[in-house]
Amino acid sequence: MTNEIFLSVVSPMHNEEGCAQEFLDRTQKVCSQLNCTYEIIIVDDGSTDSTFTILCQSTITELTTLQLTRNTGQTAAIYAGIQHSKGRYVIIIDSDLQNLPEEIPLLLNKAKQGIDCVSGIRQKRTEKVLSRKIPSKIANYFLRKITGCPAKDMGGFKCINGQLLRDIPLRAGQHRFLPILVWVRGGSVEDVPVSSAPRTTGESHYGLSRILDVIFDIILLWFQYSF
Ligand code: UDP
Ligand code: MG
Repeated sequence: MTNEIFLSVVSPMHNEEGCAQEFLDRTQKVCSQLNCTYEIIIVDDGSTDSTFTILCQSTITELTTLQLTRNTGQTAAIYAGIQHSKGRYVIIIDSDLQNLPEEIPLLLNKAKQGIDCVSGIRQKRTEKVLSRKIPSKIANYFLRKITGCPAKDMGGFKCINGQLLRDIPLRAGQHRFLPILVWVRGGSVEDVPVSSAPRTTGESHYGLSRILDVIFDIILLWFQYSF
């Protein structure tokens, strides 16, 4: 029991050399103040910059680095991290510091009250209105209508019951639907307001084609869980 990991922080990284070190330092600092056992699992998703070197040189003893041989996509990276995790609770967080590691306790505290999926709902998003915010709002609206899952912002920062999460198979793109995948298995889902910082290093991996991808992913999800 004493060796049990209480919290796993899982984060995917693809070419994030500009923020990798700061992400590790801030995450480790927050976790060390939680007074619980924890692990930080970073999945290097086939980076071609110095991200992997930065991870390998880290002296953080709670850090596990997984390396995918080539860029396989955010869902595959997150899935690898989840399957490697042992925590009773698992935090899923982007590594580009658009989610704030300092808000991990906010999500964890809610999860500790017995919520299976605590879903961060991003406040004051600084992204482009037409290409990001409006499509995201429309997609989230349809997802709520189709599935009944109450989460208003499916993608992004989460704290999920580890046992339940490790049993969920993920298809490409489904890292955006984690609250739904918990919900359809009978788990509880609640929103918590979180910050949304602008990206200060590197670039988003997604362009306008994401809108089409998400439409197809929603249709696929609908088929997968309707029958
Ligand atoms: N990411 C990844 N593999 C990919 C694309 C993204 O590991 O093929 C990671 C990326 O390093 C970041 C997170 O997934 O930590 C979210 O990516 P991004 O910031 O580009 O997405 P956005 O914030 O624009 O939705
Ligand atoms: Mg980002």
